[in-house]
Amino acid sequence: MNKKNFFNNTRLVHHLYDPWSHYGFINPPVFRGSTVLFTDAETMERGKQAYTYGIHGTPTTDVLCHAINDLEGAAKTVLVPSGLAGITVALLGTLFAGDHLLMIDTVYHPTRCFANNMLKNLGIEVEYYRPGAVLEKLLRSNTRVVFAESPGSNTFEMSDISAMVVAAHRIGALVMMDNTWATPLYFRPLDHGVDISIQAATKYLAGHSDVLLGTISANEKYAHLIDNAHRLLGMSVPGEDVYLTLRGLRTLNLRLEHQQKTALALARWLETCPEIDKVLYPALESSPGHQLWKRDFTGASAIFSIVLKKGGKREAYSFLDHLKLFGLGYSWGGFESLAVHVNLADRTVSRTDYPGPVLRLQIGIEDFHDLKEDIITALQSIR
Ligand SMILES: *Cc1c(COP(=O)(O)O)cnc(C)c1O
Repeated sequence: MNKKNFFNNTRLVHHLYDPWSHYGFINPPVFRGSTVLFTDAETMERGKQAYTYGIHGTPTTDVLCHAINDLEGAAKTVLVPSGLAGITVALLGTLFAGDHLLMIDTVYHPTRCFANNMLKNLGIEVEYYRPGAVLEKLLRSNTRVVFAESPGSNTFEMSDISAMVVAAHRIGALVMMDNTWATPLYFRPLDHGVDISIQAATKYLAGHSDVLLGTISANEKYAHLIDNAHRLLGMSVPGEDVYLTLRGLRTLNLRLEHQQKTALALARWLETCPEIDKVLYPALESSPGHQLWKRDFTGASAIFSIVLKKGGKREAYSFLDHLKLFGLGYSWGGFESLAVHVNLADRTVSRTDYPGPVLRLQIGIEDFHDLKEDIITALQSIR
């Protein structure tokens, strides 16, 4: 039976783990531990044993690595303690002093902070490009990494990943992508030529706001660099968090399908509200990135932003403070709806003038009508 042909729900139930590798128990055990005993001195010296030390992996971490390899179509996946660590470890493992890094300007803010501080201090040139930029004009002989995030954080602009891959590979640069928004169920970067795909598993993969975890998945060519960086930097993750992420993965497709449906219905309705200028969500036909999204992605996750027609901080705060079901909190991808006032002051080459405040909504698994009522009350407060 060719497992590759399964649909997503079946894959996530049957493909993550072989129960017969642990006496038929349908979930893997949580291994804890630093020390692993060797059978004899020679085996110890040669290190030729499946497991040698806790930091280099356990049967629990292997289950998640194999599952993510399968979902991403990757040769190698490593686990790190957060999504941000996924980004920092991947960049530290692939950049050298004197290299030029091209980074999308709509990037997740902490990624920019890392690049502007630590990478610049290490002698790496950091340059930002706007979504849709013609990469050929920006690539240099020393460009080593093109960092993509599509759609971008908070404003959700799409990039033409395939075109970027062609341009970057022509000069020998690699393309790295933060694929947290789509998850590997709705976009598989490596299938489109991306070399390294990063997930904040904290978000949809774990899915329950109780875990911080990141994954880095590489193709054959960059597998050894990612593996090295992971080892050299001493990255280790708790077995319990790996277990919780595996538990979350089982329902990833179910959650995404439900949350996407509610998010799209809310986004379509919000577009018609008189208080709202725009809804920034590539799944909407009105979005400038819609054609690219439709061409490349097989679904949309449930986070988007609304732009108010007018007002500033006072209106933004009033909207947020009148929400009862949407919590005010960072992160997303969990079961609960969240809202946040977006700050775009860090943008350099992709500044857009919006007529009013930008508010990001993460749609949880609550019911459409309840969330709609909640938003109506919040919108009424700013009339
Ligand atoms: C949240 C987020 C991260 C970081 O994930 P953490 O696990 O919170 O460190 C990285 N990229 C994007 C796009 C995110 O939204």
